[in-house]
Amino acid sequence: ILLKQADLALHEAKGKGKNQYHHFTTILMEKMEQQLWFEKELEIATLNHQFKLYYQPKYDLKEETIVGYEALIRWMHPEKGIIPPNDFIPLSEENGLIIVIGKWVIYEAISQLNQWHLKGYTSLTISINLSAKQFADVKLIETIQDAMIGKVIRPEHVELEVTETTALQDLDFATNILKDLREQGYKISLDDFGTGYSSLNYLNVLPIDIIKIDKAFIADSIYNKSKQQVIKTIIQLAHVNKMDVVAEGVEAYEEMELLRTEKCDMIQGYYISKPLPPNEAIELMNKAFEI
Ligand code: C2E
Ligand code: CA
Ligand code: CA
Ligand code: CA
Repeated sequence: ILLKQADLALHEAKGKGKNQYHHFTTILMEKMEQQLWFEKELEIATLNHQFKLYYQPKYDLKEETIVGYEALIRWMHPEKGIIPPNDFIPLSEENGLIIVIGKWVIYEAISQLNQWHLKGYTSLTISINLSAKQFADVKLIETIQDAMIGKVIRPEHVELEVTETTALQDLDFATNILKDLREQGYKISLDDFGTGYSSLNYLNVLPIDIIKIDKAFIADSIYNKSKQQVIKTIIQLAHVNKMDVVAEGVEAYEEMELLRTEKCDMIQGYYISKPLPPNEAIELMNKAFEI
């Protein structure tokens, strides 16, 4: 992050022409101050519970109903409003706060699903995103088990989303943790599939129940024959390996129909719903879906 800022500062300084060095140092100082301020704010946020989980439905194409929700974190900043995860999760991974934040996410998502089950939505599942740092934490399994204490939901209702970059940092270690969790009944899903260097390798190495096709393959797929071919291949590959497939970023009716034709199991995306606060998210269950 520091290097990126130095780079940005250099760029800005060059744009200002003469006396580049002077500009560079002042701009860099400003950027570092902003960075420090932001880090401090993130610490405060972590202590003061300024986070909230939004929930995006996962829609089953065969059952034609919502079968679960993915929990997506938001930072509700008192002055700056809602800050999206891509603006603070990378920093929290760098400074270690992700362990505390991630633990909160696990507890919060699991209690929310438990509440929904108690209200009668007893087949819903919850998907929780895990980052690489959380995987390096020996307490991860314990954290998840603790969050499940006293709950009516079972491990089968909880899906843990990992990306190949998450797993890649220490493949053997990650594989063992995932295997352990899977033996306890938790579902493992491979997020952003197709965007990494060797997605296909990981498919054979990691214990996986669900593959999520990255939204990059869905965008413009209606007009793009080669994207359609990739989608089709991923779905077939998943099914041969007895895995379910979720397509991310479905924004249009035609995309949904294309995925239905290829026997994709579930879809997620703005076409069904954007991520919503819990009350609005569960409201969708009471709506008759005619899509
Ligand atoms: P992701 O896990 O791949 O989540 C999907 C992202 O795509 C979400 O962005 C979601 O709001 C967005 N999305 C959903 N449907 C559509 C669509 O139809 N079109 C488009 N263009 N986008 C769509 P969001 O919520 O901003 O999250 C971004 C990333 O932040 C997530 O990507 C995930 O990697 C990370 N993240 C979110 N919550 C958590 C968390 O609790 N813990 C960790 N470690 N990472 C998280
Ligand atoms: Ca995800
Ligand atoms: Ca994804
Ligand atoms: Ca992602």
